[in-house]
Amino acid sequence: MMNLTQALDELVTANRILACEGVVDSFGHVSIRHPYRPDRYVLSRARAPECIEVEDLMEFTCDGTPTDPVGRKPYAERFIHGAVYEARPEVRAVVHHHSPGVIPFSVTGARLSPVMHMCAGIGTRVPTWDSRATFGDTNLLVTNMEMARELAEALGPRPVILMRGHGCVVAGMSLREVVFNSIYLQLNANLQLKASGLGEITFLSEGEVAAVLRTRGSFTFERAWEFWCRRAARPYDVRPMEGTA
Ligand SMILES: [Zn+2]
Repeated sequence: MMNLTQALDELVTANRILACEGVVDSFGHVSIRHPYRPDRYVLSRARAPECIEVEDLMEFTCDGTPTDPVGRKPYAERFIHGAVYEARPEVRAVVHHHSPGVIPFSVTGARLSPVMHMCAGIGTRVPTWDSRATFGDTNLLVTNMEMARELAEALGPRPVILMRGHGCVVAGMSLREVVFNSIYLQLNANLQLKASGLGEITFLSEGEVAAVLRTRGSFTFERAWEFWCRRAARPYDVRPMEGTA
């Protein structure tokens, strides 16, 4: 198991990568489940991901209460993370982002599904959660556990859910996986939008998505992570590899 220092360092790297790849801008955030305290998670104070340092990382209980605030202001939408960790014991990392590429799919009801093998990790069909259905006219931010729990319930066992007129949530078994799926979610949305102007789209079938995921070993995430670390000018901390996909 990774020690806490390594885990925090990797979380800083994840923030920088997501910013470097244009998935997050001044907004959006990424968290990890605490490596020793599964009832807690680690997330930065409210700051643009590109600027985040280890000192910005804060610990929260699943209901969004900071355990060591020392004057730091948390993200208003931190509740998203805790609700997913609470509902999904297997989840180790969560990203919430507002990538412009995915927004058109959240406001039209247009299907968002993998159009390319590298994007199979987004799931066969990405659902959309509409905060207005239960909570009426809000500023669309998920600022309490009630909203976050409903969002987590709508996510269910899936890796990704869109949020109408807002963004999305990506959940996974490791930080490298959620960063990978966040970047390829954005790519898939952009490719799908481009393809839709050319003609009818042939999506990956459920069987193809399953086959890609079966053969996608940690090698896939490592190869991508090393590349993204280089682009984000962060050190690459190698992880033991399984599989050869
Ligand atoms: Zn948001």
